Amino acid sequence: MEVDMMKKVPVREQAPEVRAKNFEEVCEGYNKEEAMAEATRCLNCKNPQCVQGCPVSIDIPGFVQALKEGNIEDAYQVISLSSALPAVCGRVCPQEKQCEGKCIRGIKGESLSIGKMERFVADWARENNIKPKAAETKKGKKVAVIGSGPSGLTCAGDLAKLGYDVTIYEALHKAGGVLVYGIPEFRLPKEKVVEKEIENIKGLGVDIETDVIVGKSITIDELLNEQGFDAVYIGSGAGLPKFMGIPGENLNGVFSANEYLTRSNLMKAYQEGSKTPIMKSKKVAVVGGGNVAMDAARTALRLGAEVHVVYRRGESELPARAEEVHHAKEEGIQFDLLRNPIEILGDDKGWVNGIKCIKMELGEPDASGRRKPVEVPGSEFVIDVDTVIMALGTSPNPLISSTTKGLDVNPRKCIVADEVGKTSRDAVYAGGDAVTGAATVILAMGAGKTAAKAIDEFLSK
Ligand SMILES: Cc1cc2nc3c(=O)[nH]c(=O)nc-3n(C[C@H](O)[C@H](O)[C@H](O)COP(=O)(O)OP(=O)(O)OC[C@H]3O[C@@H](n4cnc5c(N)ncnc54)[C@H](O)[C@@H]3O)c2cc1C
Repeated sequence: MEVDMMKKVPVREQAPEVRAKNFEEVCEGYNKEEAMAEATRCLNCKNPQCVQGCPVSIDIPGFVQALKEGNIEDAYQVISLSSALPAVCGRVCPQEKQCEGKCIRGIKGESLSIGKMERFVADWARENNIKPKAAETKKGKKVAVIGSGPSGLTCAGDLAKLGYDVTIYEALHKAGGVLVYGIPEFRLPKEKVVEKEIENIKGLGVDIETDVIVGKSITIDELLNEQGFDAVYIGSGAGLPKFMGIPGENLNGVFSANEYLTRSNLMKAYQEGSKTPIMKSKKVAVVGGGNVAMDAARTALRLGAEVHVVYRRGESELPARAEEVHHAKEEGIQFDLLRNPIEILGDDKGWVNGIKCIKMELGEPDASGRRKPVEVPGSEFVIDVDTVIMALGTSPNPLISSTTKGLDVNPRKCIVADEVGKTSRDAVYAGGDAVTGAATVILAMGAGKTAAKAIDEFLSK
């Protein structure tokens, strides 16, 4: 296969007009020939910046070299030393800001397609039944992990590899956190990818108990004092949605993005005969401009609606990944930029029938450094919609902090933890979105990894 050293080997995708009507994965990934060809573009730098850009420090040149030589199993074992979820990360990590953003190849040409190669290696390992290596000896100590999102799964997997007995307690009926309830099937297949990587983590000896809400079914104090756990890791995420506080938000047809996506992804509302159906909307306004807004908008589109993203700043301020915005536009989503909702309108039966917005313009930069949107007086207008999805961010649920003695939280309700995840409570560690507020899969994994090391040091004293 001929390779242009300055350009990424292109990746196949479903055509926009086809994928806008289905929930199949948009990106089809590399085959072996393409992945090996892409690997030949690696400069094999003496001081690889890509590794520094990766929050879990994958030996990227190591796995790329093995891939280049066609040793896919070796490439997988190199990755799995650092990452428990490579097929997930290869699909959803913001590589352009991390490993690929630091790739030296990217200075003159296009950076190496590290995410797509990682995805190929992980998919190949899964299809060939290659598993990560489990611990050979046991430590005889027990750790409880709260939450089965990427942070909890990573912490649990790393502790199991070190020989600890690990139990994950998960509030929902399915493990995976945002990977199963938030990120849509068309970006991250659940059965094919997420469930298989979770099976690998279970294969390391991790026990997962679903339908257990820590703070209600059992408390952290009970886990430590009565259930014999030696340490606890809190990876409970930031799943509490924010609303705008404008009139009409309690009308029928107003959803938080989390609820809308959970109904579709976790409860499979998009499938015929689903037990928890979702509204078949004609015209939807999604409020917000981040990745969650893009996922909600693209899901509503696939469910048959005309979709408008309403965002109060301009195109260059959209916080979503450029790739997500590009895909959304290709699929036919309309962007109503510099517009802010001021009221949701309803009919006499309490159903949404419109959203009143006001035009905005950009003023002076605010504390975040972005130009502050200000209202244009007298510019109110109405968009006729039957559904409004609020995608304005989330914060941690205060249930755990309010039921655990001596666990400090900050004013944003995030658990306070030091750089290794240690909280104000002895033997209790925390990380991921529960500590940082809504962030990314790989940062949550990095926090789980760091905390696993710190828990091991604490329990080895
Ligand atoms: C729609 C959406 C799309 C996203 N897209 C991307 C993307 O493309 N790339 C990216 O890098 N990031 C993305 N993110 C962000 C990313 O998914 C999160 O940063 C990441 O999942 C955080 O991991 P976590 O393990 O800390 O928490 P979570 O994934 O939120 O997992 C926490 C788990 O803890 C459980 N839990 C909560 N409270 C309790 C309790 N009291 N008892 C027991 N269990 C509990 C929850 O049910 C959940 O399963 C997206 C987020 C959303 C919502």
